[in-house]
Amino acid sequence: MGLIVQKYGGSSVADAEGLKRVASRIVATKKAGHQVVVVVSAMGDTTDELIDLAKEVSPIPNGRELDMLLTAGERISMALLAMAIANLGHEARSFTGSQAGIITTSTHGKARVIDVAPSRITEALKEGAIAIVAGFQGVSQDTNDITTLGRGGSDTTAVALAAALEADVCEIYTDVDGVFSADPRIVPTARKLKTVTYEEMLELAATGAKVLHLRCVEYARRFDLPIHVRSSFSNREGTWVVKDHPEGGEMEQAIISGIAHDKSEAKITIVGVPDRTGVAARIFQSIADADINVDMIVQNVSAAATGLTDISFTLPKSEGANATAVLKKIQGEVGFQSIQYDDQIGKISLVGAGMRSHPGVTATFFASLADAGVNIEMISTSEIRISIVCRINDLEKGVKAAHTAFDLDSEQVEAVVYGGSGR
Ligand code: ADP
Ligand code: ASP
Ligand code: MG
Repeated sequence: MGLIVQKYGGSSVADAEGLKRVASRIVATKKAGHQVVVVVSAMGDTTDELIDLAKEVSPIPNGRELDMLLTAGERISMALLAMAIANLGHEARSFTGSQAGIITTSTHGKARVIDVAPSRITEALKEGAIAIVAGFQGVSQDTNDITTLGRGGSDTTAVALAAALEADVCEIYTDVDGVFSADPRIVPTARKLKTVTYEEMLELAATGAKVLHLRCVEYARRFDLPIHVRSSFSNREGTWVVKDHPEGGEMEQAIISGIAHDKSEAKITIVGVPDRTGVAARIFQSIADADINVDMIVQNVSAAATGLTDISFTLPKSEGANATAVLKKIQGEVGFQSIQYDDQIGKISLVGAGMRSHPGVTATFFASLADAGVNIEMISTSEIRISIVCRINDLEKGVKAAHTAFDLDSEQVEAVVYGGSGR
């Protein structure tokens, strides 16, 4: 008998049938003698639909109110799931993030969990009930307002609760059988990974593999909590996210564990920047002050004749308007010529701990892109990752070409996509 935290994503509870199917899985776990805490996402594409609706009434919705609206999605699914479980003869109690003690910072839309005080959950468990918690939400310590943890944040709710409750395992149920060597939606020959390390999963999540929320992996690593990513539509063993690959395991020799792609970023180029000390600092300070995260940055050598250079960087598309406005404000002071905004870019990232000891990875990657006719616009690397930016239309063929070049294609098709719209 143990304590298990299970998280079910939106595609697993997309409709009444899905809710009932998930309810039976939860009851089966309970019947096997475990204490069960469930974290649930909003049904299907509810969160996207609510965002669209908000934008219809206001182009830039107020952060506090948007969070209030979005958290309603998870409240619907938690209550329905509790009802479906009750219908199977077991007691389930649903809790909002705030009731479950998820305490966060106050930044709406991307709040961070700072504390978890799950006394109501422990109480429910002690009384033999199944606890259902609304994912992706909490309450701000400073303002007492309701916050959300960023898109995909229910994974983080689950891991934060699992750590606070000292759960034996945190299971993340989704619409594919685990973490694959690439997104099964674009690479049908992707291979399921038996294990992936926190370090690798952090890089994959940070570069667009949305199967796990980045913060959830950071959290799991901090508490050394194993995560089991698996499908709610099958009984197959999924992928274990752990500290180290097991000795002699299949991944030991692999150079590349996975390939992530990201269509959610845009590129800003600041044209004609005076090549003076302190200019880049001024530009990126103003971006940071607006709470905008930038990713890749490239600065060209300045032209000898003019002493001017161009600086390009990538950032989330959702921050594009904000960043452009911030830069226009400092244009006079910094003295650059113009700003170009390009949202037709895609990013491909190769991730693998084996890269450390294998030279030539970059060459193989770039050759595969060249053969596929994909032009590289930006490059960045870390110890275990290489990322490139290309045209958005070239993204899928680039991912497939690199997947094949690194011998990642599996012989039999195991990358089943059970549900979800891929939105
Ligand atoms: P959920 O609603 O269960 O949270 P998400 O849509 O957030 O599900 O995440 C699951 C999706 O992540 C999959 O359907 C798949 O398209 C996508 N994905 C991207 N990269 C990977 C990968 N490397 N392995 C598995 N799934 C991936
Ligand atoms: N419903 C939220 C989203 O769509 C949170 C989640 O699913 O994890 O982003
Ligand atoms: Mg998700």
